[in-house]
Amino acid sequence: MSEFKELKEKLFYKRKNGLLDCDLDAVNGFCDGYMSFLNKGKTERLCVKEALAIAESRGFMEFSADKKYSAGDKVYVNNKEKSLILAVIGTEPVENGTRIAAAHIDSPRIDLKPNPLYEDSELALFKTHYYGGIKKYQWTTVPLALHGVFCKKDGTTVEVSIGEDLSDPVFVITDILPHLAQDQYKRSAGELIRGEELNVLVGSHPFKDDEGSELVKLNILKILFEKYGILEEDFLSAELECVPTGVARDIGFDRSMIGAYGHDDRVCAYPCLMAAVESVNPRFTSVTILADKEETGSDGNTGMNSSLLEFFIEDLAATQGGNGHKALRNSKCLSADVNAAFDPTFPDVMERRNAAFLNYGAVITKYTGSRGKGGTSDASAEFMAWVRRILDENQVTWQTGELGKVDLGGGGTVAKYIANLGVDTVDLGVPVLSMHAPFEVVSKFDVYMTYKAVKALFKAE
Ligand code: MN
Ligand code: MN
Repeated sequence: MSEFKELKEKLFYKRKNGLLDCDLDAVNGFCDGYMSFLNKGKTERLCVKEALAIAESRGFMEFSADKKYSAGDKVYVNNKEKSLILAVIGTEPVENGTRIAAAHIDSPRIDLKPNPLYEDSELALFKTHYYGGIKKYQWTTVPLALHGVFCKKDGTTVEVSIGEDLSDPVFVITDILPHLAQDQYKRSAGELIRGEELNVLVGSHPFKDDEGSELVKLNILKILFEKYGILEEDFLSAELECVPTGVARDIGFDRSMIGAYGHDDRVCAYPCLMAAVESVNPRFTSVTILADKEETGSDGNTGMNSSLLEFFIEDLAATQGGNGHKALRNSKCLSADVNAAFDPTFPDVMERRNAAFLNYGAVITKYTGSRGKGGTSDASAEFMAWVRRILDENQVTWQTGELGKVDLGGGGTVAKYIANLGVDTVDLGVPVLSMHAPFEVVSKFDVYMTYKAVKALFKAE
C-alpha cells in the first residue's frame, strides 16, 4: 500500500453501506416481527396493548412502589393506556444509574372533533382536527381506517376499529378534481388543503322516511347505535383517530425497505420494546419508556414532558432505600427517534456530509432543534464518546445525522425532556423517507441496527 493510501485508511472517517456485509436473515427476521407489530399498533393505545401483551408474555409484572424488587425482576407501568414503562432491575443499586431507552408511539393522524358528525348535501361527514405536523394535501383521497374509544358516562368503554379488515368499509377525505382546481392551485402549498377542509366522508344513504331533514346523518347514528350502543353525544367523550388503512409492505424488487404508516416512531419503539423484554439480568437497571404526545410537543400526562419517568425512577430507587435524584444524575439514555434520510430527489434540503443515508445504520443525532440549536438538548462530547464506544464494541453499524440544512426548518424529539432531568441523553434511531406522510419508508437494515444499539445500551457498563 502506498503511504498515501495507508494514511488515508488510518486517518479518514469512513461510512459504508451496511448491506454490503450483514446477516440478512437476522435483519429480515427482526423486521417481520416489526411489520406485524406495526399492523396491530395503528394508534398509541393499540401500541400499548400490543407491547403489554408481549411484555406480560415475557414475565413483566405491574410495578408497585410499595414492593421490594431484586435483580432480574421485570416490571411495567401502564400509564392511562397510552404510554408504557418497562424496567428490568439490575444488580447495581438503582441510584448508581439506569440505562434508559425512550421512544414515542403516537404518530401524525387525523383526529375527530368532539362534535364531528354532520350532514351536508345529503352526505354524512366528520369534522376533524389534524394531530401532529402533516402536509395536509397528502391526506386526501387516501383510504382511512377509524380506531379509538367511546367512553360513556356509565364508565364503560366501547372500542372502535374499523377499516383494516378487507371486508370492512373505509373512509376518505375528498379533494377537488384537477379540471376545476385552477383557483386551488393559486393557494400556497401549505394551504392547498386547509384544516377545515379535512372532512371525512362517512355515508350517503338516507334513513327511509318521507319527511324530515338530516336523514343520512340519522341513518349513520342508527347504525352506530346498533353496532356500538352509542348516541351522538357520546362523541363528546371519545378519542377517535383516522389513520391510513392497510399493512406494512416490503418496498423494492430487492425487498430491502419497508413502507408503512406510522414508522415515526414505532420503528424505534419496537426495537426498544424487544431489547427491553430480552434484557436479562442487566448490571444497570434497564428502563424503556414508550411515550405518547411527542408529535404535539410532549405535553400532557402521557407525554415525555410529564413527571412520569422522573417519578418512576425515583419510586424505583426508593424501593431499595436509594436516592432517586442520584439515580437520574447517573443515568444514560438513548432517545430513540427517527431522523430524515437523504432523498436523491430532494437533495437541496440536506447537507450531504452530515445527512443520514438509508442502509448506513442507526443514526445518532447529537442535537435537533431549529435556528441556532434552539429548543434542543445537545449531547456532550463526553457522552458521544461513550456511545461511540458501546456501539463499536457491539458491532452496531451507525452514522450521524442532522435534521436538514441549517436554518431550513427543524424539529425536536423527547431527548430534551430526559436531558432536563440530568440524564446524559442523545437521539438514536432510524432514517426515514417521506417522514409524517401517510406512507413512510425505512430500510430494514437500519431498523435492525437500532435494535442492536438499544441492546448495546442495556448491557453497557
Ligand atoms: Mn418521532
Ligand atoms: Mn415525528
